Amino acid sequence: MSKSSSTIRTTCPYCGVGCGVLATPQPDGSVIIAGDPEHPANFGRLCSKGSALGETLSLDGRLLYPEIGGERASWERALDLVAKTFAETIAEHGPDSVAIYGSGQLLTEDYYVANKLMKGFIGSGNIDTNSRLCMASSVAGHKRAFGSDTVPGNYEDLELADLIILVGSNLSWCHPVLYQRIIKAKAERPGMRIVLIDPRRTTTADQADLHLAIKPDGDTALFVGLLKSLAERNAVDAEFIAESTNGFGAALDVARSWNLERVAEATGLSVRDIAVFYDWFAETTRTVTVYSQGVNQSATGTDKVNAIVNVHLATGRIGMPGMGPFSVTGQPNAMGGREVGGLANMLAAHMDFEPANIDRLRRFWRSERVAQKPGLKAVELFEAIAQGKVKALWIMATNPVDSMPEADKVRAAIRACQFVVVSDMNAATDTAVEAHVRLPAAGWGEKNGTVTNSERRISRQRPFLAAPGEAKPDWWIVTQVARRMGHTAAFAYERPADIFAEHAALSGFENEGNRDFDLSGLMHAEYDGLQPVQWPVRAVRSTARMFTDGRFFTPDSRARFVAVAPPPPLTPPPGMLVLNTGRVRDHWHTMTRTGKAARLSAHMAEPFAELHPDDAIEKSIRHASLVRLENRHGSVLVRALVTERQQKGSVFVPMHWTDRFSAQGRIDALVGGQTDPQSGQPALKSAMVVAGPA
Ligand code: SF4
Repeated sequence: MSKSSSTIRTTCPYCGVGCGVLATPQPDGSVIIAGDPEHPANFGRLCSKGSALGETLSLDGRLLYPEIGGERASWERALDLVAKTFAETIAEHGPDSVAIYGSGQLLTEDYYVANKLMKGFIGSGNIDTNSRLCMASSVAGHKRAFGSDTVPGNYEDLELADLIILVGSNLSWCHPVLYQRIIKAKAERPGMRIVLIDPRRTTTADQADLHLAIKPDGDTALFVGLLKSLAERNAVDAEFIAESTNGFGAALDVARSWNLERVAEATGLSVRDIAVFYDWFAETTRTVTVYSQGVNQSATGTDKVNAIVNVHLATGRIGMPGMGPFSVTGQPNAMGGREVGGLANMLAAHMDFEPANIDRLRRFWRSERVAQKPGLKAVELFEAIAQGKVKALWIMATNPVDSMPEADKVRAAIRACQFVVVSDMNAATDTAVEAHVRLPAAGWGEKNGTVTNSERRISRQRPFLAAPGEAKPDWWIVTQVARRMGHTAAFAYERPADIFAEHAALSGFENEGNRDFDLSGLMHAEYDGLQPVQWPVRAVRSTARMFTDGRFFTPDSRARFVAVAPPPPLTPPPGMLVLNTGRVRDHWHTMTRTGKAARLSAHMAEPFAELHPDDAIEKSIRHASLVRLENRHGSVLVRALVTERQQKGSVFVPMHWTDRFSAQGRIDALVGGQTDPQSGQPALKSAMVVAGPA
């Protein structure tokens, strides 16, 4: 599509690839969507979801006016009620009696003011986000290894690599444009190899040179065994280990007993396949290991991340073209949320809860109420709501009644909460219908701000439509509530550019290069015309790769090996299956947007349970019949999809369907509340369920 004078450059609101989009409004009200050929994430490509964005812009289901108790109200009344109730709750029960639960869909500017209000002026750490469900284990793993939450490389590294290892990632469906870039590079350089490590034979396996159909949660054993193998064949980078790292000996001590046979037993893989993988890794300098939710959404997710990072540190393959561990995020702005402190255990600008950082924020924000300790992480937060400890809750741009583990319990907790505010585009999500106050939020195409993709690249989302009804941007809603709570000067923003400038200034405040996140080069940048740029940006320079000098953000500038021990195998009790949840190609989260595009819904019309033929026979389940999955947390009724792509003993069900789209398809109702102890990320891929004919 050629760019007309009315074409707006913006960014896709779905996955963490962060593709640039050209949106051209038409006289008839429609909008033509095309990939932005100049955006460095996608160079003009879009996937099925991105290219259908123009079909998702109808006002069907939109929340257009503020509502109190289901009745239309003025903004004045609604904002007054929210501010008054939060202030009274805090006065009576303390700052930790209130909470915000946000979203990787929020723009950085929205996130920044929400975090500033909660951690800076209410004085509680109780702001967490659905990003806890997405990549919190990568954050924790990065911090253990690098001393900072830093993604070392970039997308170009995937094209430069000679070996790409995809761990727990169905990249072809979940990050399609990144996958397309890899496949194009492989076509141009057929010597490039792809290894897929995934219990399921997904469509990503179709282009893989080696598919390792690993047992659920077998990843740590595979990479611990690889560390041992690299050391034994002297394929480690002794100089890098000596000069830039600590802890190699301790990590290797744990790995020593993990020979091929033991790894085979723990992973369910053949010794031969493991040996091929280890050979390829040892002999290929340009190696990138991409990992996603199959790694993160586990009770041992952080250990998995560090087992992967360990082998890159051992070989010195980090910070160089075509090399490195690479976490790809699920959401469009999970990274931006991390940058502003949108996770309960982080402060703004990638700072931890340490006295010097708390004091730095006290002085920068001119507030004596800065939170002194981390708040409740998502699963803990909803438990605290259920126990009545958190009495006022504000949910922004997300749908925890469908997406949280133990989703039925979460719904009950929200119903029992004294005061629930939902700000959202949509009037009738399974969460929004439970709110006492509903605030209409502007959506994609109407909002103005920034997002950060998986390669640390900040891009602009720009508006090309007027917000409908009385919908307002999230940053405006938060700012209005903050002012009503008495914080007028601290929230005197007039537009998103004011917020971004403050965010950039904070990142550079007393930052002598000892903190990774730094946008000080953008403090005075022209916001409206801001070009996609990778942080850190100091003195107007972008940074394509981190750790190029072998220096890290730990106190002694050395990276840390983490001595991780593989967990016991995940074995289902007799008669049960391991439940794996995830995405399909054409839907996004709980389908509030993609559910509007008929052609997207045509790909997978209803929720399904993917079962191995042997399990189907054993349980008398016929292909395409209805199957009931249940456990002590809940029950769903879905269509059986019997396929050898599924591993025996496991069942896969997509996460998207909600009560709005399928009366009994809310799969997260069956996921328990177990979390990774380091990251607090729920184990969304290892619930145990019973399956049988409906
Ligand atoms: Fe959007 Fe992700 Fe598809 Fe790109 S790959 S168009 S960011 S959903």
